[in-house]
Amino acid sequence: MTATIIDGKALAAKVRAEVAEQVAELDHVGLATVLVGDDPASHVYINLKQKAAQAAGIDARDLKLPADTSEEELLATVAELNADDGVDGLLVQLPLPAHLDETTVIEAIAPEKDIDGIHPFNAGSLYLGRPRLVPGTPLGIMRMLDEYEIPLQGANAVVVGRSAIVGKPIAQLLLARHATVTTCHSRTRDLRRHTLDADVLVAAVGKLHLIAADMVKEGATVIDVGIHRTDDGLFGDVEPAAAERAAFMTPVPGGVGPMTIAMVLQNTVAAARDRRGARVARDAN
Ligand code: NAP
Repeated sequence: MTATIIDGKALAAKVRAEVAEQVAELDHVGLATVLVGDDPASHVYINLKQKAAQAAGIDARDLKLPADTSEEELLATVAELNADDGVDGLLVQLPLPAHLDETTVIEAIAPEKDIDGIHPFNAGSLYLGRPRLVPGTPLGIMRMLDEYEIPLQGANAVVVGRSAIVGKPIAQLLLARHATVTTCHSRTRDLRRHTLDADVLVAAVGKLHLIAADMVKEGATVIDVGIHRTDDGLFGDVEPAAAERAAFMTPVPGGVGPMTIAMVLQNTVAAARDRRGARVARDAN
């Protein structure tokens, strides 16, 4: 079997076009991104998000703060953007420099503007089965699974990785769609036993080719979240040869990556709609 390749790039373009239409309907949608320091990968991600937001007609503000910004200064910036009515979505790029406490900063973001879906209110809402703003990567994965009509109800879904931004939220979303979900991590015994049982396998580990081709069940759907920059190009957490066993598989690059950015934009529009809804309701009282 050779897998059908799940074309994240094409689907992301479709989502971005949908977002652009919704932005035009709403008239104004505002995004603010905050980047502290000089991490080169973070600069790349922020620039991609900024470019994509602008192309969709979103009014995108790009705040770049020096590496020695104090926590007090960063919290003041976040508070200002929380209070700014022209900002619908607010994103602080992680990781932050070591002297800044990520939890404190994340908890300072107004939950209704938290388009990365990482504030405890949004994470908790997802856990309770009432999702509000959900992180872009898992949201993009669900959109890909739906677009390719992958059956989820009753399916064995195995998620490798339990980060707050990918592993945990994708496990919750799959559970909400009635998959039987197993979450694996660095302390899991006999990872292969679990992955071989997966109808849907999500690899979000950050270890180049950790999932060997022979760890994939014949006919599985494989979602590779990993991104590794090597001299030979970009690769994922799953060996490309797994495509000979899988029925559906995301490529790296061109799979999950472009979807993540598109879904962050979609979240910005969702936040704008919700905020306007809330404002109309307030005005009517
Ligand atoms: P993370 O926070 O580092 O989490 C990695 C997870 O993998 C942890 O839960 C860890 O387990 C688990 N793990 C590590 N070694 C393992 C092993 N040998 N067997 C099983 N599990 C193992 O990473 P992340 O933020 O979720 O990102 C994962 C990867 O996805 C990275 O390559 C990142 O660059 C990429 N990523 C891509 C996108 C995108 O848009 N394409 C978005 C986000 C992330 P413990 O919890 O036990 O330590």
